[in-house]
Amino acid sequence: RAKAAGGNRYELADADSDARVIARHSLTNRLPAALDNSEFFIEYQPLVGLADGAVRGAEALVRWLHPVHGVLGPDQFIPLAESTGLIVPLGRWVLEESLRQARAWWQEGSGQAPMRVNVNLSPSQLRYPSLVADTVAVLENAGLAPSALCLEVTENALIGADEEELRPLRELADMGVDIALDDFGTGYSNLSYLRRLPVSTLKLDRSFTRGMQRAPADPVDVKIVEGIVSLAHTLDLSVTVEGVETGTQAEHLRILGCDTAQGWYYARPGPPERLRMLSLVDAAS
Ligand code: C2E
Ligand code: MG
Ligand code: MG
Ligand code: MG
Repeated sequence: RAKAAGGNRYELADADSDARVIARHSLTNRLPAALDNSEFFIEYQPLVGLADGAVRGAEALVRWLHPVHGVLGPDQFIPLAESTGLIVPLGRWVLEESLRQARAWWQEGSGQAPMRVNVNLSPSQLRYPSLVADTVAVLENAGLAPSALCLEVTENALIGADEEELRPLRELADMGVDIALDDFGTGYSNLSYLRRLPVSTLKLDRSFTRGMQRAPADPVDVKIVEGIVSLAHTLDLSVTVEGVETGTQAEHLRILGCDTAQGWYYARPGPPERLRMLSLVDAAS
């Protein structure tokens, strides 16, 4: 009986992984057509200043409306796009579309500065030879200054990069594009390395702020965040916290000196109309 059950389990496991391989394979094959058929869309999530509660900008988060599977999140297809190279045209589309949106928000607004958009860059985009030229062209087409854009790069994508490999990012930073180090604290870069990176913002990973969702806050998490904020501010970097889900957490993080917050407490990622409403409400209050 034990043997039969064991055999059964193996069979299930095999069937399961076959299904995963097939799913992976068919998703990967469909990616180029999905881009041609405009099946991708972008949701925006506001970034909020902790000191005044004002909307500072929004992160562009890509989704795929798959004709059979429904809406797929980036974790389900970005790795596939990354491994096939499709991430380069997909990433360029995300950049174009979100800057076009930023321009539209700006035109709808009444004489305020343009809303900054944060766009995620994957490692292959970083290594793509025309990254700088493409980004400049997209900004020009949208009629926006470089300061309207923040590029988010994960800590892991930059680990071990030498000066030559960092040059495109440095050029963009020198032009006025804001560079944020995403998921900060999950990689293994040593802290002195931070000084060499052309970044202006640290986006502290959600895992560090989970312990502050309820009072009392986890004392170890508090110490860690305190240390990171003090280090960041010493290096003239601003700190954004991800995954803020409760008011208690927002209050802890504000007291700890974090600058900007993003999370479900403020808003889930949503269509561009929702962000416009949020920022109009904000400007009116
Ligand atoms: P990320 O850049 O760290 O984005 C933040 C993720 O946290 C998003 O997941 C967002 O929906 C989620 N999130 C926001 N607030 C909360 C919260 O309060 N609680 C919790 N539990 N989660 C929250 P999402 O949209 O699934 O994106 C996952 C990752 O996919 C992103 O992580 C980013 O690395 C990547 N990604 C998204 N769009 C793009 C893109 O256009 N290009 C590239 N290369 N990567 C992208
Ligand atoms: Mg990000
Ligand atoms: Mg992040
Ligand atoms: Mg993250």
